Amino acid sequence: MFKKILIANRGEIALRVIRACRELGIETVAVYSEADRESLHVRFADDDVCIGSAPARESYLKIPRIIAAAEITGADAIHPGYGFLAENAEFAEICAASKITFIGPTPEQIRTMGDKAQARATMIANGVPVVPGTPGPVEEVEDALAYAVKMGFPVIIKAAAGGGGKGMRVARDADEFTRSFQMARSEALSAFGNGSVYVEKYLERPRHIEFQILGDTHGNCIHLGERDCSVQRRHQKLIEEAPSPAMTPALRKKMGDAAVLGAKSINYVGAGTMEMLLDEDGSYYFMEMNTRIQVEHPVTEMLTGVDLVKEQIRVAAGEKMSITETPPLRGHVIECRVNAEDPAKNFQPSPGRIDVFHPPGGNGVRVDTHVYAGYIVPPFYDSMIAKVICQGRDRPEALAKMRLALDTFVVQGITTTIPFLGRVMADPHFARGEVHTKFLETDGAHLMAEPKP
Ligand code: ADP
Repeated sequence: MFKKILIANRGEIALRVIRACRELGIETVAVYSEADRESLHVRFADDDVCIGSAPARESYLKIPRIIAAAEITGADAIHPGYGFLAENAEFAEICAASKITFIGPTPEQIRTMGDKAQARATMIANGVPVVPGTPGPVEEVEDALAYAVKMGFPVIIKAAAGGGGKGMRVARDADEFTRSFQMARSEALSAFGNGSVYVEKYLERPRHIEFQILGDTHGNCIHLGERDCSVQRRHQKLIEEAPSPAMTPALRKKMGDAAVLGAKSINYVGAGTMEMLLDEDGSYYFMEMNTRIQVEHPVTEMLTGVDLVKEQIRVAAGEKMSITETPPLRGHVIECRVNAEDPAKNFQPSPGRIDVFHPPGGNGVRVDTHVYAGYIVPPFYDSMIAKVICQGRDRPEALAKMRLALDTFVVQGITTTIPFLGRVMADPHFARGEVHTKFLETDGAHLMAEPKP
């Protein structure tokens, strides 16, 4: 087992990883930017190293400084968290070349799944259903248009290297397609340094359903149930839950088997997520695989009782994962992401000093956060300040707990999305589980605005 793990991340996920390490008796190293000097991950780690100035490209993305920090402190492994370098195959390679274990899949696995066009091709080759679309990247607008016409509009143009909801454009007719295609290509090039795009059929009201995967180097690979992440804004997840209200045991078996088949086809090792779309007619399609721990992993942890971060560490150390079959799914779990954003101002970030902070608690309530009263939310990074996860024996109980949790979550000094999340929890459509990825643009659009007094 590792002696000392460096966490190449910040915020709540850095704290989350530190907790897992402490439980396993492993020492920790925090790295931080000048803006994060006062952060809890720095305080709670055994060792800490400042790696640069506030902008992520000057600190959390600076590979040589992170490797140097690991070498100076004697860390024998690096946990990348999510975001930043978590899906950077080159970083995983450099770790290996520096004799430091990267806690995640192999560089090759990251590369295969990181290129969405290549991931699609891999899934097709292994018989996993994918959203109908071009067999690979398309260069010429004429060829792409011909595919789009054949598939039928609307279609979505996606950057092969895209991620985080970026690099996607929907086209509803041939005219729009021609314009969007060129824009998508140049956007992809400037955002990801790779102009490669492909075209998929655009599903109008799908659910986003993803399966948590866990694999080890001893040939075990299982799923730990699904998460329904359909409540999104601009393709970014806001609320996640499990089980999906749309799931049946038979559908879980089919989709879960497909997810595991896809992961096994690349001998996947570590924690990963197979993201799929479930269409209104019950068809499901592979969309992409995330080769890392996800923001919403606590949903699965509460539902199954499995500590996914500890499993990641065990598996990276070459041990067998502690469960080798899908565990029983207990009750129902909902997660809300609390962001320092102002819904009244188009969800514009609202950084600044938190004066009062009182998180909710109680039976079945988990709060993952890195903030505290007096903490200053910096403007440089992701605006998520907390995740509230509630578990009930069934969906109505989980929902009731979440309503109460949000109601008693006091944050003063900055504007947060707590009241907005509360409105979603009180919405009759949401209460019936009738959501899809366009919910907040259609039936739920009114929830975005503050109700008039
Ligand atoms: P990213 O890697 O940027 O997160 P994804 O490929 O995971 O992008 O897609 C993010 C979201 O975009 C999905 O959850 C879904 O809401 C929407 N989306 C992606 N592809 C399609 C599609 N073919 N049809 C409809 N919605 C889609």
